[in-house]
Amino acid sequence: MTIKGIEILQSPDYKAKLIQCIHCGLCLQACPTYAVFGTEMDSPRGRIVLMRAAAEGRIGLEEFTNSFTKHLSLCLACRACETACPSGVKYGILVDGAQAAIAMNRRVGAVERFIRWLGMHQLMPNLGLLKLMARVMWLYEITGVQKIVRALAPYVLPRPLRAMEEILPPIEPKYRDYRAPAPAIGEKRGEVAFFIGCIQEAFLAQVNEATIRVLQRNGYEVHFPAGQTCCGAAHIHQGEHALARELARRNIDAFLARDYDAIISNAGGCGATLKDEIVHLFHDDPVYYEKAKRFAAKVKDISEFLATRLHVPPQGRVNARVTYADSCHLRHVQKVVKQPRDLLKSIPGIQLIELKLPDRCCGSAGVYNIVQAETADAILDAKMQDIASTGAEWIIVSNTGCHMQLIAGSRKAKLNLPVYHVVQVLDMSYRAMERGSERA
Ligand code: SF4
Ligand code: SF4
Repeated sequence: MTIKGIEILQSPDYKAKLIQCIHCGLCLQACPTYAVFGTEMDSPRGRIVLMRAAAEGRIGLEEFTNSFTKHLSLCLACRACETACPSGVKYGILVDGAQAAIAMNRRVGAVERFIRWLGMHQLMPNLGLLKLMARVMWLYEITGVQKIVRALAPYVLPRPLRAMEEILPPIEPKYRDYRAPAPAIGEKRGEVAFFIGCIQEAFLAQVNEATIRVLQRNGYEVHFPAGQTCCGAAHIHQGEHALARELARRNIDAFLARDYDAIISNAGGCGATLKDEIVHLFHDDPVYYEKAKRFAAKVKDISEFLATRLHVPPQGRVNARVTYADSCHLRHVQKVVKQPRDLLKSIPGIQLIELKLPDRCCGSAGVYNIVQAETADAILDAKMQDIASTGAEWIIVSNTGCHMQLIAGSRKAKLNLPVYHVVQVLDMSYRAMERGSERA
């Protein structure tokens, strides 16, 4: 029996990336799973050794479906190892290739199969359906059913379903009609396209609203190209490359239909896919490879965009001691580190306290907190300890998954701290400015 998809790992390009690793081990301390397990095979270097053994035919099907799959599936694809690596190893591309091969060989249980089918194939590509589900979940929250389910969950719900329930944020199902652009307020400085996303819009619509308002206040007309869809990040990281490509084509065609100043994303994970991973997805498609490069060059994270275009300084006071939890994909892939911090520091009244390990993943990582719930919990516990030690009143984030994960973490750790996106804090300042009040 042969390993399905092994040709992905045996391509000359993949092998060339593998041999860039010089086994120095400088990435080990940056790796959250190495911190949890302390084992070489759960470190970036160990995983590269496994990938190389598979690529060179030194691993049979049995070892591939057991040891290889186990250790590679535990990787969060957070890419902290890429930042730490002095040799420039493109670990993200390597792990995505390994995940694609794993997906072709893995037998998954009925519950996980159902969750993957429902989440990745039905809900994420279909925003209407996702919003309908969010409305049902909102009823579930406000009627008190959630309290009963949460009390019984440890006894009755399978672990992946319990993990899904735990990360459900308080939902405010007020959705904007995206058919007309949002006009610039004051002097018009340009036109941008906004990437609405899927989970962010359905479950955290208030973040999208704040993003649009802040762009408007800074003189930008905000467009919402019809036909856009989920970015496909979860699909890529779970080895569902065919569907990821289909979603990417829809987004590229929707956003390239008009020449915008920028394509704005407010979720670190989505932005990393739209800016970086989307290009690699089409490496063997001459038509879409060029289009993907043009599209990716236009994508900007909201903090990155505003850092040089904050035409209207936020002058309303927002008195709060806050800490900022980096999104791994914003920090390690998009390299946007300073901008969100500078924006926060520009707001009167905001006191920013840094975490001891600001670059350490929170354990969200797409659907990792659902499919690898125990490990994700251990990673989240460490993050919450770090957050608690700052004495912060609010947690500030820049990615949807982190937002949901840290709401759940804060509740579980009994800290009960509010979690806001950077742009929500900016929006609070502008609203305070408008009211002439001291605090939003
Ligand atoms: S991507 Fe993250 S979890 Fe995976 S090996 Fe690198 S540092 Fe570790
Ligand atoms: S830091 Fe880079 S070169 Fe060194 S072991 Fe890690 S991946 Fe390999």
